[in-house]
Amino acid sequence: MKQIVLKHALNARPIASDLTMIEAPKPPCPEDGIVAKVLYLSLDPYVGSRLRGAHMGEPAPVPMLEMIPGAIVGRVEQSRSAKFREGDIIHSMDGGWAQWIALSSKSARRINPEPDHLSAHVGVLGMPGLTAWAGMTQLAKTTIGDVVLVDAAAGPVGGTVGQVARINGATRVIGIAGGAEKCALVKERYQFDACIDYKQPNWLDALDAALGSPPTVHFENVGMNILLPALQRLKPYGRIVLCGLVDQYHATTPAPQIPPGLIVAKRAQLFGLVVYDFYPQFDAYVDQATEWIKTGALIYVEDRVRGLENAPAHFERLMRGENVGKAIVVVSDDAQ
Ligand code: NAP
Repeated sequence: MKQIVLKHALNARPIASDLTMIEAPKPPCPEDGIVAKVLYLSLDPYVGSRLRGAHMGEPAPVPMLEMIPGAIVGRVEQSRSAKFREGDIIHSMDGGWAQWIALSSKSARRINPEPDHLSAHVGVLGMPGLTAWAGMTQLAKTTIGDVVLVDAAAGPVGGTVGQVARINGATRVIGIAGGAEKCALVKERYQFDACIDYKQPNWLDALDAALGSPPTVHFENVGMNILLPALQRLKPYGRIVLCGLVDQYHATTPAPQIPPGLIVAKRAQLFGLVVYDFYPQFDAYVDQATEWIKTGALIYVEDRVRGLENAPAHFERLMRGENVGKAIVVVSDDAQ
């Protein structure tokens, strides 16, 4: 089978030429496990820093990973588990960049096999969607009257944050994103009230005009350069969800610090979010979000390539922040 591996250890943001495709043996089926044909592979920002052994406080360096990690949707081809049968469609967070994956039965969840929205199980119905839902409903507990601000708003986490906030009654939902194309997506497809392009000069003036009143909730995906102005604008007693620091995963210079006094002055509540905590609610979230998709309350956008051989270049685009929507590789020829 085809598999993508690292060519060498990394000490900087990964680029496509750090990766190469090899022929590898198809994995044997483990006891109490399955072998699944990979239909869709998720490309996620954390993978770049995992590959360097530098993700969120991980001690660096780590040994080079044999299998590049990635969430997948796959079809069971062999099963030695009572939980799965051949033909079942599964989602796993323990997949990888290969055409077939061996998984323990604990690492897979059976999902709805209907082809509509199958790929969404690595996006809005997968880990990024669950992350957004958890931040809005379990941590910030967004409700009627909230003014919600979120960055990386065109992506699967940020885009879902704003839409879930709106479903929960938020009065105003404002996105921050890089570039006119992303902002158009956020406003026209995700139906945010406004989206501010932070790559434009005077973007903070545009943000103030769009906000109207101070945000009561801010969801941070990017880093201190956006968190600081968001905190400065936060309404007293507001809530901040710290989800991702994508701008810092490969940074070579230290990020600006958040003055602790500002948090005190704002009486702000800060929530650190780790999506693993919410895996017990995965299936319940997927049922709810599927209904929202059916009614049109939740829209998702994918940035796809077809063929595992195209994963490295697509991953480099994600690492540069050039993806518009959820970055996905359609791995199998028989996936839509
Ligand atoms: P995404 O939005 O599809 O992609 C990341 C986006 O970040 C880029 O498109 C880009 O959008 C923005 N960005 C800003 N500075 C960047 C930089 N220096 N390098 C690369 N991108 C940069 O990603 P996602 O999957 O929805 O994830 C969003 C955030 O949530 C990430 O920080 C991710 O690590 C985090 N996350 C955390 C958890 C958790 O459990 N805490 C779970 C899932 C995801 P703009 O051009 O609009 O700035």
